[in-house]
Amino acid sequence: MPSEFDIIRKHFSRPARRALLGVGDDAALLRPAAGAALVVSTDLLLEGRHFARGAAPRALGHKALAVNLSDMAAMGATPRWATLALALPAADEAWLAAFAEGFYALAGRFEVDLVGGDTTRGPLAVCVTILGEVPSGLALMRGGARPGDDIWVSGELGGAALALEHPQIAAAAKRLHEPEPRVELGERLRGIAHAAIDVSDGFAQDLGHLLERSGVGALVHYALLPKVPHDDPLVQQRCVVSGGDDYELVFTAAQESRLELDHLSRQLRLPLSRVGSIQPGAAQLQLLDAQGKPIRPDPGFDHFA
Ligand code: ADP
Ligand code: MG
Repeated sequence: MPSEFDIIRKHFSRPARRALLGVGDDAALLRPAAGAALVVSTDLLLEGRHFARGAAPRALGHKALAVNLSDMAAMGATPRWATLALALPAADEAWLAAFAEGFYALAGRFEVDLVGGDTTRGPLAVCVTILGEVPSGLALMRGGARPGDDIWVSGELGGAALALEHPQIAAAAKRLHEPEPRVELGERLRGIAHAAIDVSDGFAQDLGHLLERSGVGALVHYALLPKVPHDDPLVQQRCVVSGGDDYELVFTAAQESRLELDHLSRQLRLPLSRVGSIQPGAAQLQLLDAQGKPIRPDPGFDHFA
């Protein structure tokens, strides 16, 4: 049976490139760039709650980091370093190798260093803390939306939720198990977006958080939302409006930024859809169907329910 230290040495000790000191000491040493704010976020994934028993380890390694990278994207931050706390029921070498492979593959794409963590026996749980940087004063927050702003959504909504109902749809399954964090978009939105949030718990719920923090309302046209294709319009609507785990960005920007954002969309080869506008008044989302009738969204995902 390998020890905790064997596991760390074998699977989680790849050298760090940007850290003064990475895995192996009592703590890591990091030096953020001068003039940058340090941006920190944590996500905890539990078996049976956030992923199914028997989930593929490579995809899990990817997703554990991806959900944290998505939080960096939503802040307009550049991710730099991560720590990984793992509780494992057993030291399964094949499982660990595949998990580390998924984690490091995504970390490598964004030049993120794994600089520390903790490893213990227990019910399967994965907790990643991500650290990033953003030039001071340029972080994107939930509270900056202003009446008259356009509301934009990246990519496509509903794929991850559709995969829960139809696991055989390959593109949807990929969205659920190996989401693509919109890091580059977040960085490019600095100085353009007034407010941003990532869609982890459902479009309506997450936009609702942004509205609350900003103290504004929103008018959104369902017809304009970028939708996962599906032949049952009711299932499609539920997935698009209330489905979680898509990790797209929802952001607001001045109308003067439309041309710039269309250009950015082409540059990044990432659809950016303008779906509505920020309204003065109470923090409420008015979602209208093609006939102009209100749609009542289901509540999105509640981790405490
Ligand atoms: P401590 O006893 O100080 O908590 P540990 O023995 O738990 O230290 O960890 C030894 C080193 O390995 C530390 O640098 C820690 O950050 C790192 N580490 C532990 N688990 C992981 C992991 N799952 N991924 C990356 N680094 C880890
Ligand atoms: Mg420890």
